[in-house]
Amino acid sequence: MGLKVVKFGGTSLADAGQILKVFEIVKADPDRRIIVVSAPGKRHKTDTKVTDLLIACAEAMLKHGAAEQELAVVVQRFAEIQQALGLPDSITRAIETDLRQRLAGDRQHHGRFLDGLKAAGEDHCAQLVAAAFRQKGLDAHYVSPREAGLLLSAQFGNAQVLEKSYARLAELRHHSGVTIFPGFFGYTEAGEVATFPRGGSDITGAILAAAVQADVYENFTDVDSVYACDPHIVPEAPPITLLTYREMRELAYAGFGVFHDEAIVPAVQAGVTIGIKNTNRPSAPGTQIVPERPYSAGGVVGVASANGFSTIYVSKYLMNREVGFSRRLLQILEDENISYEHAPSGIDNTSMIVRSRELTPAREARVVGRIQAELAPDDVEVEHGLALLMIVGEGMRYTVGLAARATRALADAGVNIEMLNQGASEISIMFGVQEADRKKAVRALYHAFFAPAHGGEQTV
Ligand code: ASP
Repeated sequence: MGLKVVKFGGTSLADAGQILKVFEIVKADPDRRIIVVSAPGKRHKTDTKVTDLLIACAEAMLKHGAAEQELAVVVQRFAEIQQALGLPDSITRAIETDLRQRLAGDRQHHGRFLDGLKAAGEDHCAQLVAAAFRQKGLDAHYVSPREAGLLLSAQFGNAQVLEKSYARLAELRHHSGVTIFPGFFGYTEAGEVATFPRGGSDITGAILAAAVQADVYENFTDVDSVYACDPHIVPEAPPITLLTYREMRELAYAGFGVFHDEAIVPAVQAGVTIGIKNTNRPSAPGTQIVPERPYSAGGVVGVASANGFSTIYVSKYLMNREVGFSRRLLQILEDENISYEHAPSGIDNTSMIVRSRELTPAREARVVGRIQAELAPDDVEVEHGLALLMIVGEGMRYTVGLAARATRALADAGVNIEMLNQGASEISIMFGVQEADRKKAVRALYHAFFAPAHGGEQTV
């Protein structure tokens, strides 16, 4: 018998109706034996995800020492699902008791306290789903990440899997029936709950798929496939049916929200194919993410973009001759616990591109102060409001003139390029533009590479 690890995202579990669709999908294929679930997500555009409701609970508790109102909203969400599925009220009562216990926990360390609550959405959803599946005659069991041995680093809200987890998790392969496993969290070696970054249930799924050597890792979401550009910006963007791991990682990094960028690596290392599918239309072909794909030269497969970057620009005459300059600059960032994303540099200048959320005003002041004091630069400037755009494709490295075509398209659209960077892998080119220009820039690149009628060329 084959083995598929199948992950369902928040919108696939947002209410009882969606959970019944998930049941049909799981029942339709006996290979679907390990199911990873998110917390219930949005039922409609203006709805709030359970994870965000839980964060509101935790924050109220930290601020006011009470969270009755916020707690009632979460309990109500679960109660509605439990009732609509015809499950006993005792399930909701148990959820409430557990949430109260989490809220009464130690609040000394905010990140740790927050993670305890954030993880509850997935944990309770998995228990509800297991109960619903059993009631409908499927031999389904909730398995806790603690019991299964999913060990994470103690980086609360940003944890990473510990290598030693894999050997224990491999045992899941031999579990009977259907395993329902909550996504998004695991346990530190000290036994505390820790969560992955937001959207991290994808990562759990990838880790399990790698650990049990699954044939396929199916990731069910609410769109038919990955598209060449964000369909909110370019509604006519074509679907992508086949992508390599590297292409997906680059696209996901720069804003393709369909799949978490950190969920690629575990699957790649184990050589597991990833399939993106739609819970609302499981018959749609979806997108397959594979180690290699045939591609023609010139193939730009997608255009991604993301807001929220800042640049720390440092210039100093003869920087190129000053041994250790970059190391000392990086040391200052490291001391502030800031990770940098890119570092395009020239002879006498270098800039560090960081996520704006990492550069709080206090950190920014300290970093700039230390650069001035310790590196004696001619100039140091911080700029916010940068968006990154990427054109991605395996075939790009064999094609002459792609950068020219992209820069011409941006220039014609009146978009100023603040930064340009071709990754060493040559499967992507990155542009930094003002956030205000991001959508216009995506449309321009789309027309340049995907819309022949507009002078572009279908290159894949
Ligand atoms: N529920 C978590 C979040 O909203 C994780 C996930 O859905 O993957 O970020």
